Amino acid sequence: MYLVSTRNMLNKAQHENYAVPAFNIHNLETIQVVMETAAEMASPVILAGTPSTFAYAGDYLISICQQAAEQYRIPVALHLDHHENIPDICNKVISGVRSAMIDASHFPFEENIRLVKEVVNFCHYWDCTVEAELGRLGGQEDDLIVDAKDALFTDPDSAVQFIKATGIDSLAVAIGTAHGMYKHEPHLDFDRLHAIRQKTEIPLVLHGASGIPDTDVRHCIDLGICKVNVATELKIAFSNAIKQYFLDNPDASDPRHYLVPGKAAMKAVVADKIRVCKSDGKL
Ligand SMILES: [Zn+2]
Repeated sequence: MYLVSTRNMLNKAQHENYAVPAFNIHNLETIQVVMETAAEMASPVILAGTPSTFAYAGDYLISICQQAAEQYRIPVALHLDHHENIPDICNKVISGVRSAMIDASHFPFEENIRLVKEVVNFCHYWDCTVEAELGRLGGQEDDLIVDAKDALFTDPDSAVQFIKATGIDSLAVAIGTAHGMYKHEPHLDFDRLHAIRQKTEIPLVLHGASGIPDTDVRHCIDLGICKVNVATELKIAFSNAIKQYFLDNPDASDPRHYLVPGKAAMKAVVADKIRVCKSDGKL
């Protein structure tokens, strides 16, 4: 087995009305948790890494994910989440990644198209699928902070034009979600999502799903979302459980012990998100 693109997994999800969850991973332990849980639940899965995660874990990241694909024998994609630097994307694709997001959403429309098209041309030669974003999510992702007033919703007609001009494989839509946790209950623009789905044919992606009520995520899936990104909720579960372990065991020093409750807490969130996405049993 090897790391696959998201083409087949997202197309199947689109036809069968579920979503493939994309979980942000950071190290060996978080990859172990996601893979073990997805395999137990027979779910296709996407392991997502932001540029700073790749910078942190270095070349180990691709190797560990390749090993995980070999070990668990389920379709798994390692996805470049919110990557912006084109030479960097190209290098990672050559190293074995087969799913990339080029985020040029902060550029004007024409420039967004030009950059995305350049990435699509390169990636498709390597059989790597490409996700791009139109509109702009608020909140913080990696080192990128977008103020709520600068967040822009995706325009359905522009989405049609954007997909046609770039040849992307999936589109991340901005419909009111944000990165990070929500201070106030978010109000998602379901009518906008419906309009985008009516006018387009490729898989649609929901970013910023941490903290969105399950019923709203399900509604988005019913309206055509085929990939749901989860990052913040995993980090919080993992970290809080480890903090508690140290409170209970102040003398603990063995990572093989103190990381275990973090993994268990993260596993519960991963399993829950797989159920919300309805991707269990969809191998
Ligand atoms: Zn995102």
